Amino acid sequence: NTQILLASRPDGKPRQDNFRIGHSAIPEPADGQVLLKIVYLSLDPYMRGRMNAGKSYARPVEIGDVMEGGTVARVVRSRHPDFAEGDFVLSHSGWQAYAVSDGAALRRLDPSAAPLSTALGVLGMPGFTAYSGLLTIGKPKAGETVVVAAASGAVGSAVGQIARIKGARAVGIAGGAAKCAFVRDELGFDAVIDHHAADFPEQLAAACPGGIDVYFENVGGHVWDAVFPLLNDFARIPVCGLIAQYNSRPGEQTGGDRLPLVMRDVLSKSLQIRGFIQREFVDQRPDFYREMAGWITSGQIRYREDIVDGLDNAPTAFIGLLEGHNFGKLVIRVADE
Ligand code: NDP
Repeated sequence: NTQILLASRPDGKPRQDNFRIGHSAIPEPADGQVLLKIVYLSLDPYMRGRMNAGKSYARPVEIGDVMEGGTVARVVRSRHPDFAEGDFVLSHSGWQAYAVSDGAALRRLDPSAAPLSTALGVLGMPGFTAYSGLLTIGKPKAGETVVVAAASGAVGSAVGQIARIKGARAVGIAGGAAKCAFVRDELGFDAVIDHHAADFPEQLAAACPGGIDVYFENVGGHVWDAVFPLLNDFARIPVCGLIAQYNSRPGEQTGGDRLPLVMRDVLSKSLQIRGFIQREFVDQRPDFYREMAGWITSGQIRYREDIVDGLDNAPTAFIGLLEGHNFGKLVIRVADE
């Protein structure tokens, strides 16, 4: 069994030598278990947090352990009454080729209903993050302006398109001309700005003449700095991610202390800033699966996947994700379907 293990904890940006490839015997399923062959592995920004020691909203991966991650897998041996060989399932098996499971955390997938990889993206955790965070906290109304960064990515692409379904104006922020063209022309956002542009704050202000009513925060950093002065009274800010900070060292600050400034506007503009982790909204999952599947079928939601072949390439692809090298939902094809 090929596995990617955490070799050491990164200091700042992760490096290749923070990961180690391990080989072990393919595990044997016990009575009541299945043996899973991993087909797709999802690479997600949250994994950077799991590489750090210390308390967060989830336990860290320990040194020498298999890196954590969501997976689509095929049942290749079953000693479980509810699963048959050949079944496809969503599992959380991590960065490895094979895993055993007692079935409790598996969700069966129908390969004829949607491409299997979408269970890790638009029809999976990132799509659900966009849906639940935007609708529960952002609450976009018709005619309002919704801004989201990482707009070509798994979460951001869905945020902007759902905002448009609700009648709002969607303004995307993305890195580079190709991503911006995709967000505007393929995803149908009303406007898109390249955050690498020297005059990015001015361009963003010009694209939001009526200010910003909902800012779906994926990034932090210089994007937040440009957004903050444009926020309208009663703006809602679902804080979903802060990817610009994930490689920061403990205690490292970017810029000066702007908390007093932020708090002044939280008060004077009646801003609602509310962080969330998607699992909080687990009750909404049935609605999400139904609505999102419908929107994909009707063509109202489009998505892009960035599929990289081979488990060995997962560290490089993951390091690139934290620097914007991916273009769409990043997935490793571990084996053929
Ligand atoms: P994406 O597919 O959007 O990939 C990450 C993108 O972030 C990159 O492609 C890049 O896009 C952008 N990016 C990376 N570094 C920076 C930077 N320093 N400054 C600005 N942009 C940067 O990832 P996801 O859609 O999976 O995740 C988006 C966000 O949502 C992340 O912050 C993630 O942690 C968060 N998240 C939160 C969840 C929750 O429950 N709260 C659940 C799932 C995701 P570009 O080149 O366009 O800038």
